Amino acid sequence: MKIANVIVDIPAMQTDKYFDYRIPEKWETAIQPGMRVIVPFGPRTIQGFVAGIKDRSEVKNLREIIAPQDLAPVLNAELLALGDWLAKETLCLKISAYQAMLPAAMKAKYEKRIKRQDGGANPFLDEVFKGHDEISWKEAQQKGFLPFLQKEAKNGSVEVVYEVKSKANKKTVRLIFCPLSKDELEKRMEEVPKNAPKQKQVLQFFLENPDAKMASPELAETAGVSRAVIKTLLEKGWLEEKQEESYRDPYAGRQFQKSVPHALTAEQKQAIGPVLSAVRENRNETFLLFGVTGSGKTEIYLQSIQEVLNQGKEAIVLVPEISLTPQMVNRFKSRFGKDVAVLHSGLSVGEKYDEWRKITRKEAKVVVGARSAIFAPLENLGIIIIDEEHENSYKQEDNPRYHARDVALFRSKNHHCPVILGSATPSLESFARAQKGVYTLLKMGKRMNNHPLPEVSIVDMREELRAGNRSMFSRELFEKLKDRLEKKQQTVLLLNKRGYSSFVMCRDCGYVQQCPNCDISLTYHRSTNEMKCHYCGYETFVPATCPECGSSHIRYFGTGTQKVEEELGRLLPEAHVIRMDVDTTGHKGAHERMLQSFANGEADILLGTQMIAKGLDFPNITLVGVLNADTMLHLPDFRASEKTFQLLTQVSGRAGRHQLEGEVVVQTYTPEHYSIQFAGEQDYERFYRQEMRMRKVGAYPPFYYLTLITVSHENVMKAMSAAEKIAGFMRNRVSGGSVILGPSACPVPRVKNRYRYQCLIKYKREPRLNETLSVLLEHFQHQIASEGLSIAVDVNPNMMM
Ligand code: ADP
Ligand code: ZN
Ligand code: ZN
Repeated sequence: MKIANVIVDIPAMQTDKYFDYRIPEKWETAIQPGMRVIVPFGPRTIQGFVAGIKDRSEVKNLREIIAPQDLAPVLNAELLALGDWLAKETLCLKISAYQAMLPAAMKAKYEKRIKRQDGGANPFLDEVFKGHDEISWKEAQQKGFLPFLQKEAKNGSVEVVYEVKSKANKKTVRLIFCPLSKDELEKRMEEVPKNAPKQKQVLQFFLENPDAKMASPELAETAGVSRAVIKTLLEKGWLEEKQEESYRDPYAGRQFQKSVPHALTAEQKQAIGPVLSAVRENRNETFLLFGVTGSGKTEIYLQSIQEVLNQGKEAIVLVPEISLTPQMVNRFKSRFGKDVAVLHSGLSVGEKYDEWRKITRKEAKVVVGARSAIFAPLENLGIIIIDEEHENSYKQEDNPRYHARDVALFRSKNHHCPVILGSATPSLESFARAQKGVYTLLKMGKRMNNHPLPEVSIVDMREELRAGNRSMFSRELFEKLKDRLEKKQQTVLLLNKRGYSSFVMCRDCGYVQQCPNCDISLTYHRSTNEMKCHYCGYETFVPATCPECGSSHIRYFGTGTQKVEEELGRLLPEAHVIRMDVDTTGHKGAHERMLQSFANGEADILLGTQMIAKGLDFPNITLVGVLNADTMLHLPDFRASEKTFQLLTQVSGRAGRHQLEGEVVVQTYTPEHYSIQFAGEQDYERFYRQEMRMRKVGAYPPFYYLTLITVSHENVMKAMSAAEKIAGFMRNRVSGGSVILGPSACPVPRVKNRYRYQCLIKYKREPRLNETLSVLLEHFQHQIASEGLSIAVDVNPNMMM
C-alpha cells in the first residue's frame, strides 16, 4: 500500500500539516511527490500537493486520492524542499509557499455543484433537476432554488459537491501542412485546372517548403492567395489541418537583432574573472558586483551567462519589476534568442503559464524576470544574477514574506553555483557582508563612455524662499530647463512622492520633528492631528511654530505631479511634457508607450515619480532635476537615508549616458544631510561608512536583525490587548541581548477598518526565534480562527509601515 502525504489547499493554520491519503492501486506508479491531486476533505473535494510518499500510516479509515491533476510533478524535489524551508523561515503556511512558486494559472478554482441523491424518489426535485443528475450552484441560485435545496440537503436528498477546476488552459492553433510526398505533389500540380493558377501557387510553395506548417491566414499571405483557395485544397485532401499546442508569446513578432559580446575593458575583465572560474568549478560563491551606473554590469551578466550555457547549464536573472522594460528584455533576447523566457507581472495569466511551461520542458535556459522568477523550475542552474540587488521590490510584502536574495542563496547552495548581486548602490547589508568577506566584492568605478559621472548641483530651497522665489522650481533648475528646451535636449524631472504629506517641516529652516527616543521622524496623523513615533509609540502635538527658529511656515510637506505639470504649463508653455505616475500608467503597456514616445523625442520633459528613476537609457537626456530630495528622508523608517541616497544616485545616472554630458540639479531643504551630500558627490563608500555609524548607534541592521509583528482587528481594544500580550509573550522568551519595542500603533493605524498595532524585535542572535514565533502563532490560533484577529510576522522587514 502506498500512502501520500498531502498538503491541502486550505489556507489555515489548523490544516497546515500533512494529511494521509491512500493512493489507489491504478495510480501507484503514476502519483509522485510534487504533483497536484484531488482529494476528499470533509464533505468537500479539494486540491492538494503530494509532499511525500510512504508505506504505512497511523490513520485508520484512510481516504483515497480521487485523481491526480498532473501528468508530471509541478514541483520537483528541490522546489518541494525550498517550499518547506520558505514556510519555516518566513512562518507561512506550506500551501502558500507551494503556491507562490507556481504560476497563478495553476491555482485551483472551485466550482460548486448540487447533486441529486434521492434516486428519483422525491418528485419535488424533478422540477429542479429536469432529468439531470446535478445542476450548478450558480444556476440554483439564479433560479431561486437554494433555500429549498438547503432543506433537502439536511435530509440527504441532495449533496453539494466541489469540483476542482484548473484555470490553466493551453492554447492550441490549427496549422495547415501538406501530407503529400514530392512526387505526389508534382503529379497533383498537373491535375490543377488551368483556370486555377492560385492553387498551383500554393502547391508550389509546399514543393519548395515541404516541412512548412502554418495557420491559414499566414499561409494565405505567404503564398499570395485567398483563404478560399486553401479551403478548396483542404477539401481535396491535398492539404491537411491539425491542432497543435501553441505558446502565447508576448514577444512574438518582435525582431531581435543578434548582438555579439563586447570585448571587455580591463576593469570588466578583472571583475568577470572570478565569476567565470566559479562557474567552471561549480563553486557556490556570492559576488557583489559594485559598479557605477553605466560601468557595463549588464555585459558582465551576459558573458557570465554565456559561460554557463557553454557548460550546458541554466541561468536566472532577476530584474526589478519596473526595469523590466523592453529595452532590458531586448538585451537578453538579442544575445540568447529563443533560449530566454521572460516572467513579469505585465504578462497575462496565460502568458505567464506558457513561459513557465517552456521552462519545464527545457526549451528555455535563461529566465529573466521579476521577484518570483527566482522559483523558475530550472534543474541545472549554473548562475543566479540579481540586478539592482538593493531594490525593495525583491521582498514580497505578502505571505510568504520572502526576500528573493535569500531564496537565491538557498538555491545556489543546492546547485553549487555562483550568485552575482549587482548594484551601483548596494544595500548596506550586502556591502557589509562583502566587507566581512562573506561575499566577494567586485568593483567597477568607470563609466563605459569614459565620461565622468554627471555634475550634481545641490540647491538649498530655503535660500530660494528667502530670495522671494515661491515656485517649486529653483532659479537654477528653471534656467537649465529653458536652456535644454532651446538646445532641443531632454530633461527628466523626478518628484519624490513617497512620504507625501506624512511629515511636518519648517519651510524656513528645514526643521523636521524627531522622536526623542528613536532618532526617527515623527509621522503626522491627520485623524488625531498628532505627531507619533511608530517605533516606540511616543506622541506629541503638532507645533504651531517651528521650535528651532520660531517661524510659522511649518506645515505638511508635498506636492503632486499634476501640480508640477500645471506649473510647467504656465511657466514653459512651449514645452512638451510627459507625466508618468500611478495615475497615468494604469493601463497595460502605458508605461512602455510613454517611455517609447519619450525615446522618440516626442517630448522635452519626462516628469514622474520613483518609477522613472531606473532603466532609462536615452542619449538625449542631459538634465535631471529632483524637485524634492527630502521627502523620503523623513519617512519613519531607519532606511530613509539609504533609500534617499539610492534614489538620488540612480536618477542622476540617467543623465549623460552617451555622447552628451549630463547635469543634475537636486532641490532640497536639508542640503547638509549626509545622504544628499554624498549622493551629490556620488560617493557610495563614504555614505556607507557614515550610515553604518548611524545604524550602529541605533542598533539597526546590519548590526541587528529585526522581526516585525503586526496585529490587526476590527476592534481597537482587541487589537491593542493582543499586541500587548504578544509583546509580553516575546519579552519572556527572548534572550537578554534582544530588545522588544512596542506595542505601538502602526504608521497607518487603520486599514480597511482594521486597527493595527505592531511590535518590533531587535536581536543579534536568537537561534530559537522562529520556533518561538511558531509557538506564539499557535497560542493565538483560536483567536485568529474564530475572532478575526490577524497576526503577521515579517522576518527582516523591508517596510516598517
Ligand atoms: P550598467 O549595467 O552598469 O549600467 P551597461 O551594461 O548598461 O552598464 O553598459 C553601459 C553601456 O556600455 C551599454 O550601452 C553597453 O552596451 C555598453 N558596453 C558595456 N560593455 C562594453 C564593452 N566592453 N565595450 C563597449 N561597450 C560596452
Ligand atoms: Zn524653522
Ligand atoms: Zn520613538
